[in-house]
Amino acid sequence: MKQDVIVIGAGLAGTTTAWFLAQRGLRVTVLERRDHCGLETSFANGALLTPSEADPWNAPGTFLRMLRWLGREDSPLLLRPRALPGMLAWGLKFLSASRPHRHSRSTRANLRLALYSQSILDELDRNLGIEYDRLHNGTLKIFRDRKSLKLSVELADALRALGLDSRVLSAEQAVAMEPMLGAIARQLAGAIHYPSDGSGDAHLFTSGMHQHAVNAGVSFRFKTSVTKIHAASGRILRLETGEGEVEADHYVLAAGSYSPLLAKPLGLRLPIYPVKGYSVSITPADSHSLRTPLVDFERKVVIAPLGRVIRVAGTAEFTGYDTSLNPSRCANILRQAVAILPWLEDPGRRNLVTYWTGLRPMTCDGPPILGATPYANLFLNTGHGPLGWTLCAGSAKCVAELVAGAACEIEMQDFSCRRFQHAG
Ligand SMILES: Cc1cc2nc3c(=O)[nH]c(=O)nc-3n(C[C@H](O)[C@H](O)[C@H](O)COP(=O)(O)OP(=O)(O)OC[C@H]3O[C@@H](n4cnc5c(N)ncnc54)[C@H](O)[C@@H]3O)c2cc1C
Repeated sequence: MKQDVIVIGAGLAGTTTAWFLAQRGLRVTVLERRDHCGLETSFANGALLTPSEADPWNAPGTFLRMLRWLGREDSPLLLRPRALPGMLAWGLKFLSASRPHRHSRSTRANLRLALYSQSILDELDRNLGIEYDRLHNGTLKIFRDRKSLKLSVELADALRALGLDSRVLSAEQAVAMEPMLGAIARQLAGAIHYPSDGSGDAHLFTSGMHQHAVNAGVSFRFKTSVTKIHAASGRILRLETGEGEVEADHYVLAAGSYSPLLAKPLGLRLPIYPVKGYSVSITPADSHSLRTPLVDFERKVVIAPLGRVIRVAGTAEFTGYDTSLNPSRCANILRQAVAILPWLEDPGRRNLVTYWTGLRPMTCDGPPILGATPYANLFLNTGHGPLGWTLCAGSAKCVAELVAGAACEIEMQDFSCRRFQHAG
């Protein structure tokens, strides 16, 4: 039977969109090339739900910092020379979007969507009760350097004016909030607590949404790779897959970092670059007492308690679509974890250590790309970069509303793919 909607990709974005579409009474099929949902970037991310990280990575001045890190294997950001030709156009747009007025507009857009997303996630928690180790006690952003702290306090003040609560803490107050920081108390210049942030396991959430979507009638076709999108006269006609051709009235592209590859033959250029990141999941031999997710500002590392596990994530590598595990980068992320939580230093304490890499689907200006395209029946839910978990619930609900021809509860103009045509 011809479907109302086909969703391409079963990560956080595609799976959650499918559920929201089904709630609107639409017949939905999800096509996913892997053998289950959430096995790519949504698998073992940093687990943080952080409206506080709404400011995109290309803040004014970042470029100079990036130059200082160039070629350093232990830096938070690594630019591989072989990746340069493939990222030149994106890189220039990234720099252009770092001008203060554009960066500030992107920050406001991300924050609006992030706060909305937290409210939708709360609603899903109340209605569906998915178990994904969600914590509501905010995040603690820690600083060793007074200058960085001062800059971040300025950002926190700006975000407060836009509706995001925060509190600046002394080192002592930070340790009182998170006693596991006690071992590095003397290194700390201070911290900022963001009470509206939180954390949770994105993969468990995606699996839970998959189950609820199936219960709502959504059909998932795994091991089905979309190889081509056929279009004519401003409409998508059908999709070619390894398993034959399929068609529907509407299509949602939610293929993460691979979305631009599928869109390009349609003449639709999505400025999304796959920015590789690492995570390490550590199951301590004894139970740990970490209770507050941490963001280490200078080291660009995040740490979250996920039940018995401590998840540490960070690093940004510009290296194309390579997802291989580099032993020196793995050692680096573990070193960062130990530097923040010296309790993990003793190898005997680390019962199980699992490394992972994923590709953040990063737009050149920061906000994701959501909603309509020049093709009347093609919609996008992609390009969430380092914030895909934080922005997931709100993005999915809005995109489902747009597909169904309904109005969204928040302003969507800043997320449109049209913004790249007249960026200035
Ligand atoms: C190290 C790291 C840490 C992170 N930490 C955080 C964090 O703390 N908080 C936060 O908010 N975000 C975080 N993120 C970002 C977040 O994980 C991503 O933005 C999010 O997972 C993207 O979800 P997605 O559904 O768009 O993409 P994906 O999860 O990659 O899903 C896309 C799906 O599309 C499928 N697909 C692709 N091409 C095809 C095709 N041709 N045919 C069929 N299927 C296809 C893929 O197999 C995949 O399953 C982090 C990311 C990384 C890498």
